[in-house]
Amino acid sequence: MVLECDDADPVVFDLGTGLRFWGLDWPPSVPFAATALVSHLHWDHVQGLPFFGPLHQADSKIDVFGPAQEGRSLAEAVDGFMCPPYFPVRVTDLLGSFTFSEASKSFVTDGYSVTSAPVPHPGPTVGYRVERDGVSVAYVPDHQQPGCGSTVVDPAVLELCAGADLLIHDAQYTPSEFAQKFDWGHCTVDYAIEVARQAGVSRLALFHHDPSHTDEDLDALAVVAAKAGAAAGLSEVIVASEGMVISLGRPPGDLAAGAAGSVASTNA
Ligand SMILES: [Zn+2]
Ligand SMILES: [Zn+2]
Repeated sequence: MVLECDDADPVVFDLGTGLRFWGLDWPPSVPFAATALVSHLHWDHVQGLPFFGPLHQADSKIDVFGPAQEGRSLAEAVDGFMCPPYFPVRVTDLLGSFTFSEASKSFVTDGYSVTSAPVPHPGPTVGYRVERDGVSVAYVPDHQQPGCGSTVVDPAVLELCAGADLLIHDAQYTPSEFAQKFDWGHCTVDYAIEVARQAGVSRLALFHHDPSHTDEDLDALAVVAAKAGAAAGLSEVIVASEGMVISLGRPPGDLAAGAAGSVASTNA
């Protein structure tokens, strides 16, 4: 997922496999610069980093924010998976420059106002809210539903998402799938709609689809989710897909959220 606007560098939500495809489109003549907001370090959220072409250019730069890790820094944690024998190139071997920072509750980067909050999920995990020019996007990709049919939402998550113009949210399971995998750190589509409803969000993008769901499954899900969303008072429920672009705000100065590459369909 990438946030783009006319007058600033992009913000990348997580570093999943979609990053590689997005990097292929980056013009070689334009120095790469971006902020990356990493929700947590599970494989599906960082696996694109070693394969992101623009960071092999000397004039590229990325500022990475992520949750505080247990007993080590964020940079040390990244170095722990991007190293031999898992991958021959370390972050420090790349030609581009990196900064790693632990995401505080609120901070400003490149003119974006960012808020982070802990999200229920195995291991240190945060969600983000990004605001610029009066437009706000909340990103909660992995969210543990408390139980089957539960409508209980962590107050910190609700505060993070409150009134956002767009909520990008975990929607991995159907109710029957959740019943089998109730402690795998994710939630149902119905729960995502419930989070949006309680947070007063009218536009919801369903994300982090289960890898076993086919395009046909997602088409069917879109119909059901649209009805459920309308019943909950939401104006729009979007099933995020590769290459999708959602425009927000007032033109010009648009803030657009694009589901880049395969992030939306391959996260586990
Ligand atoms: Zn996860
Ligand atoms: Zn995930």
